[in-house]
Amino acid sequence: MKTNKPVCVTGASGFIAAHIVRELLERGYRVRGTVRKNPESYPFLLALPGAAERLELVQADLLAAGSYDLAVEGCDYVMHTASPYEINVKNPQTDLVDPAVNGTETVLESCIKSGNVKRVIFTSSIAAITDEPDSNKVFTEKDWNTMSSLDRNPYHFSKTAAELAAWDFIMKRRPAFDLVAINPFMVIGPSLGPSLNTSNEIIRDIMTGVYPGIMDMNWGFVDVRDVAKAHVLAIETDTASGRYLCSAEAVHMRELVALLKSAGFEGYALPKINLTGKAGTMLMKALSFTQPKNIGMYIRTTIGRTMRYDNAKIRRELGISFKPVKESMIDTVHDMIKWGHLPPQKK
Ligand code: NAP
Repeated sequence: MKTNKPVCVTGASGFIAAHIVRELLERGYRVRGTVRKNPESYPFLLALPGAAERLELVQADLLAAGSYDLAVEGCDYVMHTASPYEINVKNPQTDLVDPAVNGTETVLESCIKSGNVKRVIFTSSIAAITDEPDSNKVFTEKDWNTMSSLDRNPYHFSKTAAELAAWDFIMKRRPAFDLVAINPFMVIGPSLGPSLNTSNEIIRDIMTGVYPGIMDMNWGFVDVRDVAKAHVLAIETDTASGRYLCSAEAVHMRELVALLKSAGFEGYALPKINLTGKAGTMLMKALSFTQPKNIGMYIRTTIGRTMRYDNAKIRRELGISFKPVKESMIDTVHDMIKWGHLPPQKK
């Protein structure tokens, strides 16, 4: 264990953060999680093993200056995960960019004020690496998303701007702490709380007939339990530094559907029509204009392109090995059924 002081986890109610809290408690750490509502509103966190003795929940908001001062007080390590994860927003500036960027600066400002913090782990995203797969390129931590904007994939823009703001803060302010960024791809897996996360929702949609056919798209998937482990390893590994692209293998939609069928979920409304050829891609690009603006935009910037990336740095430097995507996918489906997000399969 790296510290006897509480580890601060911002946005503890979130899909990823709740698993970070669980992982920290399991390893014997004291945890101080920040939440937006009254702590009693999060019984799933308060019921975690070790929570009664070692979990404290405090209220904080990314949009309120000074809101994290108390939360980080006396902490050696801070995990900043809180940030809105939504694709379909009304106002990208106020709904995404302001909480992501100003919130990051607010949290880092509190860390400077506390005078104690040794390291901040920032939950970034593949979104800060690219919003447009390039079939001729293998993406790594060296790549930055330079294409997103308020009008083009604004969620990606918010994550890029927030991570840049964090590195910029470190460069200009030279605090006593260092920064490590974890950049996960599509995070799936069992949820500790009742909400359906945006990334698991995509799997639910694929299984419930929302997609008309199998499109020429691929995604990198990573199990939420591995993402949580990566955050904790980033404090336990003294030499950890820079960014860590955090994803198991990339899976094409065709393989994903085959995987779900082979796992026994063939009774769901999985897409059947093959739209992976050039004509299918053109059709889907045309149909994307009938979708909500940011969903259509995401489809147009990713369809017909193959995403390839290299996860060697995180495996080598943090010593992480990723759960196979098939195992995570099966756990995700059973978990969505458990929470009532997906109906049980018809016999
Ligand atoms: P999530 O379940 O939606 O969690 C987001 C968290 O941020 C929630 O705790 C939410 O609080 C908090 N939050 C949002 N706006 C806030 C505000 N104004 N003030 C304080 N807290 C606020 O999403 P997640 O998937 O766990 O995402 C966590 C982090 O991982 C985010 O930074 C996201 O960008 C990043 N990430 C996610 C994925 C993925 O596939 N899931 C992939 C890469 C990176 P409430 O519960 O009160 O809303």
